[in-house]
Amino acid sequence: MKVLVINCGSSSLKFQLIDSDTEDVLAKGLCERIGIDGSQLVYTPLGGKAANHDKITTVTPMKDHTVAVSLVIDALTDQDNGVIDSLKEIDAVGHRVVHGGEAFSTSVVIDEKVKDAIRDCSDLAPLHNPANLIGIDACEKLMPGVPQVAVFDTAFHQTMPEKAYLYGLPYEYYEKYRVRRYGFHGTSHSFVSARCAEILGKDIHDLKIIVAHLGNGASLSAVKNGECVDTSMGLTPLEGVIMGTRSGDIDPAIMQYIADKDNKTLNEVMDILNKKSGVLGLSGGFSSDFRDLEAGYNKGEANCIRAIETYCLRVAKYIGSYAASMNGVDAICFTAGVGENGPMVRRKICEYLEFLGVKLDSEANSKRGEEMIISTDDSKVKVLNVPTNEELAIARETVRLTRG
Ligand code: ADP
Repeated sequence: MKVLVINCGSSSLKFQLIDSDTEDVLAKGLCERIGIDGSQLVYTPLGGKAANHDKITTVTPMKDHTVAVSLVIDALTDQDNGVIDSLKEIDAVGHRVVHGGEAFSTSVVIDEKVKDAIRDCSDLAPLHNPANLIGIDACEKLMPGVPQVAVFDTAFHQTMPEKAYLYGLPYEYYEKYRVRRYGFHGTSHSFVSARCAEILGKDIHDLKIIVAHLGNGASLSAVKNGECVDTSMGLTPLEGVIMGTRSGDIDPAIMQYIADKDNKTLNEVMDILNKKSGVLGLSGGFSSDFRDLEAGYNKGEANCIRAIETYCLRVAKYIGSYAASMNGVDAICFTAGVGENGPMVRRKICEYLEFLGVKLDSEANSKRGEEMIISTDDSKVKVLNVPTNEELAIARETVRLTRG
C-alpha cells in the first residue's frame, strides 16, 4: 500500500509518501507560507522511478491548503521527478491531528462525525486543529473516495489515570471545560516505547519505560506495561520540561507579576512563554538550537552553560518523578532532535540518575542519531537512543485501519 502522510500547520503542510509494504519513504517535502506571499514547495523524491534524489524547491503561489495538496500531487506524479504514475496509486491518507481531547483514545478513519469531533476540540488547540481540518478537507476534495485516517498526538496519553491528568483546580473546571492534562507527541511516545521493547527483546507489557522526546518541543512520558501513565505536557504543549522556546512549568503567579511589572497583556505574556522562553530565553536570546548552545558551552559562554544546565536538571527531575510514579524504571529512551543527537545533554541528564543505577557507556553515548543501547552492560536501568519516526507510525496506523 502507498500511504500519503500529511501534517498540516496553519501556513504549512509537511508530507511523506510511504510504501507501507517496504516502509520506504518514496518522497517527502514541505509546503511553506501557504496563503502568504512567497509560498514554496520543497520536494525530495527518494524512491520509485525518480533518478534524481535532490531537493527541488518551487516558488509558486498557494492561496490555500487545497492548492498546496494539489501541488504535492502534481510533484508526486510529475513525469520526470515523480515517484508514482497517477493519483490512483495513493491508497490512503494519514493525517496528524494535534488534539483529540477525550473523544479519541486511538486513531480513526475520518468521516463527518470525526471531523465534527476534531472541530469540537479546536478550543483546546486553536492553532492546530483548524489547520488539520483544512488539510483533511483539501485531501477529500482532491482524492474523493480515498480513505483518510486521523492519528492524534493526544491519543496515546488517554490511558493516564485521573490522578495523573487532573490539576489541583476546582473540579468544576474539568467538568465544565475539560481542563485537564492531555499530553502531546503521543505518536512518538508510542512508537519509541514499542521500539524500546523490541530492541531489548522484552514484552512491553513487562516493562516500565520513560521516554524523553526532546526536540524543539519536548515532553516525557511514563509508559508502564505498554500504557502511558503520565506525561509532562498538559492542557497545552506549554507545560512540562524547558523547551527550545517554551518555558515549561513555571509558578503561574509569574504571569501576573510580569504583566504588572512590564505593563503587558495576558496575550503578550503568553507569547513570551511560548516563543521567547525556554533555552532561547535562558541563554539571553542566544539560540534555541542545541547545536549552537553546545558549541557555546564548550567555549565556556555563560549564557549557554546556564541554559543547558537548567534544561538538563529539569529533564532529570521529570525522569526521577516518573521512576517514582511507576515505582521503578527498566529503560529510559532518548528521542527527537536533541535526544537523538545530543551526547552532552544525555550525559548531563544521566549523571543525575546514577542513584537509580543508570550507568552510561561514554563511547556509545558519543554517537549521534543512531538507534542503540547507550548504557553499560551492568547498568541497572537500560538507556537507549531511539530515533523517532512519527510519519512511519502514522502510516502504520493508516494501514491498520484501512487494509480490508
Ligand atoms: P521539532 O520536531 O520539535 O521541531 P526536532 O525533533 O526536529 O524538533 O528537534 C530539533 C532540535 O534538535 C533543534 O532545534 C536542535 O536543538 C536539535 N538538534 C538537531 N540536530 C542536533 C545535533 N546534531 N546536535 C545537537 N542538537 C541537535
